[in-house]
Amino acid sequence: MNRTLNNHETATDVYTVLPTVFDNVDDAVKQLKLDRRHKWFEFMGEVVYHYSYLQTCSGCDGGGCQECGYHGKARTGCPVPAIHPKTGNPVKVRVSNGG
Ligand SMILES: [Zn+2]
Repeated sequence: MNRTLNNHETATDVYTVLPTVFDNVDDAVKQLKLDRRHKWFEFMGEVVYHYSYLQTCSGCDGGGCQECGYHGKARTGCPVPAIHPKTGNPVKVRVSNGG
């Protein structure tokens, strides 16, 4: 996204008030306006969502085998971190459930 800053009353400081570390995932989702279609959660101190997709089963190359339930597809995924709009780094949360 290209933003042209022509004068000093632009929205440059919109994000400066945002913390880079949040108390919890909810706060981060609200303040950073993260996409609510994703289910955000804390993972290793970062706000992430689980990106899951189907890929061709590596066991049978899509032909179908016991491992993939004869669908030829295997569901896989990985955690994707939320990126802070200001810093460009993954959004951090304080891990509070330590005991
Ligand atoms: Zn298979």
